[in-house]
Amino acid sequence: MRKLFIAGNWKMHNGVKDTEDFFNELFNLVSNYEKVDIAIAPPFTSIPKAVEVCRTKRVLIGAQNMYFEDKGAFTGEISPQFLKELNVDFVILGHSERRHIFGETNDLIAKKLKKALNEGFIPILCVGETLKEREDEKTETVLKEQVDSAFNNLTPDEAKRVIIAYEPVWAIGTGKTATPEIARDAHFFIRKRIKELYNSIVADEIRILYGGSVKPENAKSLLQVDQIDGALIGGASLKAQSFAEIIKIGM
Ligand code: 13P
Repeated sequence: MRKLFIAGNWKMHNGVKDTEDFFNELFNLVSNYEKVDIAIAPPFTSIPKAVEVCRTKRVLIGAQNMYFEDKGAFTGEISPQFLKELNVDFVILGHSERRHIFGETNDLIAKKLKKALNEGFIPILCVGETLKEREDEKTETVLKEQVDSAFNNLTPDEAKRVIIAYEPVWAIGTGKTATPEIARDAHFFIRKRIKELYNSIVADEIRILYGGSVKPENAKSLLQVDQIDGALIGGASLKAQSFAEIIKIGM
């Protein structure tokens, strides 16, 4: 049985003060959430505060990006070692905003993924097609390329530790959610590809989250799809109230 994983990606929102307020409110709203894994990826500068206020709570704190080298002349990048010093649990890699706004390639993302696994982080690898790619019926081609490249260099034991987030680019921040059927088909395709690359044990264990305009109003219909093992939530994770509502749907 794959445990449900409900994660918030705050993107460039919630500074230190908002982070503290968020968690204080969240822990007033939800307790006893053993059945789900809860995770938040704040901006780098809010991570220490998030780790501090979650110290006695079962909440995973993550980063939204990470470089694949430990140190060096890489202005503006963040070392995995710095994240370890902050007790970060997971890293989001290959988010579509990193791919499309900052030009990250499948090759770069594969290097980061390998490094994240070597350093003991839980990686959340984001994949997903653009609207144009979907309209051109290239969804499966794009997903296959992204998955094949990322897993190219990973052993079965490493592969099992990756969490994949299927985030169709056309559904991110647009209010247009993928229907449960569209999401199920994409998740099924990704899991099938993992089975081809490894075996059914890895494919059955790996968790695949859906991301793209997940809200309290649509979370139930998505989370009840057997292929969907959780959600990666942007906008609706910024406020404790809406994030708590989605967690409760998962419980
Ligand atoms: P929204 O939930 O705001 O559409 O963002 C999804 C996302 O990009 C999560 O990584």
